[in-house]
Amino acid sequence: MSKLLPVEEAQARLLALRAPLAPENIAFSESLGRYLSEDVIALRDQPAAPLSAMDGYAIRFADLPGPWTIVGEIAAGAAPERPVEPGEAMRIFTGAMLPEGADTVIIQEDVTAADTQLTLTGENIGSRGAHIRDRGSDFVAGTPLLPAGTRLHSGAIAAAIMGGAAQLGVGTRPRVAILTTGDELVQPGRALAPGQIPDSNGTMLAAMLAPEPAIVTIPLHIRDDRETLAKVLKELARRHDVIVTVGGASVGDHDHVRGALDDAGGTLDFWKIAMRPGKPLIAGTLGDALLLGLPGNPSSAFVTATLFLLPLVRHLAGARHPLPEIRRAPLAAALGPGGQRRDYLRARLDNGLLRPFDGQDSGRTFPLAEANTLVIREIGAAPRAAGEPADYIDIA
Ligand code: AMP
Ligand code: MG
Repeated sequence: MSKLLPVEEAQARLLALRAPLAPENIAFSESLGRYLSEDVIALRDQPAAPLSAMDGYAIRFADLPGPWTIVGEIAAGAAPERPVEPGEAMRIFTGAMLPEGADTVIIQEDVTAADTQLTLTGENIGSRGAHIRDRGSDFVAGTPLLPAGTRLHSGAIAAAIMGGAAQLGVGTRPRVAILTTGDELVQPGRALAPGQIPDSNGTMLAAMLAPEPAIVTIPLHIRDDRETLAKVLKELARRHDVIVTVGGASVGDHDHVRGALDDAGGTLDFWKIAMRPGKPLIAGTLGDALLLGLPGNPSSAFVTATLFLLPLVRHLAGARHPLPEIRRAPLAAALGPGGQRRDYLRARLDNGLLRPFDGQDSGRTFPLAEANTLVIREIGAAPRAAGEPADYIDIA
């Protein structure tokens, strides 16, 4: 048996084949899920001036317990027209700038206003500076808000906007072609002749890539024909950063991905990983494109896409941490010993406990419907009792 590549080594080799794509500037509205190509540094203080955190009255703390004369009103977005002098109060609303002279806000529930007279009627006077957001209390100019390589989620986008950026620099989205291979495959939903099966992998891979910052083609299907495959690979390589094939990655007479990569003028980088499912994974280059050949069994395709395809796409799109996060939780039931390859067991994490499924045949699709995690079992691992911890990856 030729030596199988450990998963981490294969992942590192794959990501080292190409640098992230060049950055581009985009509007905030387009930025969800993209990876920052540069640090976002605050360009302004937030707030830029002391603001009221409540609806109430701006006063001088030394004037307590009042009464006060109301001398004006400030709403959010307005600049105060005059300072607050001793004995004076100004009506103020949440988000409005505090006038000069005032150092405290009394909330409206604690006072009674009659005409221009304001009297303290509550007991909740607070302390000097109460209900005021100081200048820069959120962040000051120069604060690092988000590091390069961050995936932009809604809250991160909000922070970048408030920091005063005009637009964002992010990694360009890789163009990904999905190619399913196999004479037995029929488009989803079509009638099946004997020996045929629906092509589930193509659409599954497109769905896995949908949340990622990638431009993904509608899955293309071709038959098990080496010549056609080589021609199609060559053509796709001109317009894509990644070609992901599924099926035909093994050594059977009808497995043509390796041969077709050769014929097309590509270079194999690695083949065969010490993992189960997913051993016959292929990685190589073809012109400027990367070729990732996933095995066709649905569970193998799913697991290899999780561990290789998604990280590759994230890496090219500029992710700082493209690999799936490995977490740890106790097992709900005993787990047998590890074998000669690392297992990625389809499993469920419910109420904090991991339960790997009984049927781990890589050809099965049904467990994929149920699984929300992959439990990792190391090569040669000792059996574990229920309650002992195991490593896992979230997939849902
Ligand atoms: P292969 O990697 O081509 O040897 O395929 C391994 C197994 O996965 C075979 O049983 C195939 O029929 C099945 N298979 C291959 N491609 C797909 C696909 N796109 N969708 C569902 N099953 C597939
Ligand atoms: Mg096949």
